[in-house]
Amino acid sequence: MSESAHSNETSGVVWRVPLADLNYGPEEEEAVRQVVHSRWLTMGSITREFERAFADFIGVPHAVALSNATEALHLACLALGIGPGDEVIVPSLSFVATANAVLYTGADVRFADIVGPHDLTMDPASVVEQITPRTRAIMVMHYGGYACDMPAILEIARQHDLAIIEDAAHAPGATLDGKALGTWGDAGCFSFFSNKNLSTGEGGMLVTARSDVAETVRTLRSHGMTSLTWDRHRGHAYSYDVVELGYNYRIDEIRSALGLAQLRKLPAGNERRRLISRRYREALADTGLALPFAQARGESACHIFPVLLPEGRDRLAFIDALRNDGIQTSIHYPPIHQFSYYRRRYGTISLPRTEAIAGREVTLPLFPTMSDDMIALVVDSVRRALTHM
Ligand SMILES: *Cc1c(COP(=O)(O)O)cnc(C)c1O
Repeated sequence: MSESAHSNETSGVVWRVPLADLNYGPEEEEAVRQVVHSRWLTMGSITREFERAFADFIGVPHAVALSNATEALHLACLALGIGPGDEVIVPSLSFVATANAVLYTGADVRFADIVGPHDLTMDPASVVEQITPRTRAIMVMHYGGYACDMPAILEIARQHDLAIIEDAAHAPGATLDGKALGTWGDAGCFSFFSNKNLSTGEGGMLVTARSDVAETVRTLRSHGMTSLTWDRHRGHAYSYDVVELGYNYRIDEIRSALGLAQLRKLPAGNERRRLISRRYREALADTGLALPFAQARGESACHIFPVLLPEGRDRLAFIDALRNDGIQTSIHYPPIHQFSYYRRRYGTISLPRTEAIAGREVTLPLFPTMSDDMIALVVDSVRRALTHM
């Protein structure tokens, strides 16, 4: 890893330990070279191979590649018939795309609270409180790659006849009770954005066991057309009909090739993430930091390592102290219900447990190529920052 790659132009900071880093090497370069050599760049046989390999890896019948996870969430909503007049229950402690995807359909969101400082996923009891006659679906987000309480969510969905969409952007390769996250509900949505566990720059995948959902998503991904560019290119089809108002949400062969190379590295990468997370937990146990997910359900993909500062501590001072040691941190997340747009749309909403931790959360560096020396640098810096604050 070259340090100069992480120099931040606006701040001039050169990170000794970045928040995340690509797990890229000659395999990815060769994958791209082969696509360029093949002279077919847009969605085609490599994308089909990526979809097949990802479906097999997750253990699900259908996988549809898209150009990002936000589109996967959007098309999941559409394929499940969600639209104007409907409501979907979502977490506020997530990336804004989780809620935006619902609004694109003309439906509304209702925000559910988290379980608490020890478990930052959506609380099933809070989900029940948000159900109205207009509720059509529950959209869960497996925060950090740690599973939501899916048996409880499934039971709520069954009782109230609701669909389930999983925002599994953090969770490729994570399981609960031996079952992959992303396969518990009607549709699971994965992101291959640069900083995710599997990176293609931009990219996403929708997985489902429902062939009706898979078929609708395949149609909507490419303008609602009945035959694909690839089939026409291969001489299988000469014309097409447009049967839905579709989109251009296609991925391309370059990113699918990167995805195939990255998928081969994912199990080992996730294993290294789990090891680093365990090291952090041991080394930070006596610091006064709260470490969520100590008693996590299932096997996490350990996408990020969130810590909660002791109440009343100055978060910006902590972040600055780490920055001065060359360590990059982040915040996951500013709650969605507090963004200006959402406040304008829905007014003031109170989610006491989300709000209680949102100002205390800091995310420490975590990536598979992180060295033992880097882990030690972060731990030392965190300890120093907490004693001097
Ligand atoms: C990254 C992310 C998304 C959006 O993924 P894109 O591929 O960038 O569209 C959605 N939800 C969560 C929780 C994410 O972390």
